[in-house]
Amino acid sequence: MNKTIFQKIIDKEIPSEILYEDDLCIVIKDIAPKAPVHLLVIPKKLITKLSDSTDDDLKLLGHLMMIVKKMAQEYGIDDAFNVVINNGENAGQTVFHLHLHILGGKVELPSGLITD
Ligand code: 5GP
Repeated sequence: MNKTIFQKIIDKEIPSEILYEDDLCIVIKDIAPKAPVHLLVIPKKLITKLSDSTDDDLKLLGHLMMIVKKMAQEYGIDDAFNVVINNGENAGQTVFHLHLHILGGKVELPSGLITD
C-alpha cells in the first residue's frame, strides 16, 4: 500500500512543521485551514479510519483526546473549539490515516466585526 501524506510526514520524508510530537502521535497545522486555528492530531500508528480501530487502540485514542486538550490550551482556544473526525469517503475523509481536526479561534469578518 502506498504511504499516505501523513505517513510521509511522520516518517520525516516530507518536511513539515511539527508542532508537537511524542511516541504515539504528531500535531501539525492543516495546510488548508478552515478556521483561524486548524490543527491535525495524527497517531503514528496507521489506523486508516476511526471505524477500523480496535480495542487495542483504546489507550491511543484516549491519548489523542488529551493531546487535543493540550493543544487547545496552548493555542488559547480551550473555551471554544471543535474536534472533527471525518470517517470514510462519504463523510469527506480524504487522507486515509486517522486524524483529529481541532478547529477554533475567532473569525474576523471583512467588515471588521469579530465573531466567535
Ligand atoms: P480529511 O478530509 O481526510 O478529514 O482531512 C485531511 C486534511 O489534511 C485536510 O483538511 C487537508 O487540508 C489536510 N492536508 C492534506 N495534505 C496535507 C499536507 O500535505 N500537509 C498538511 N499540513 N495538511 C494536509
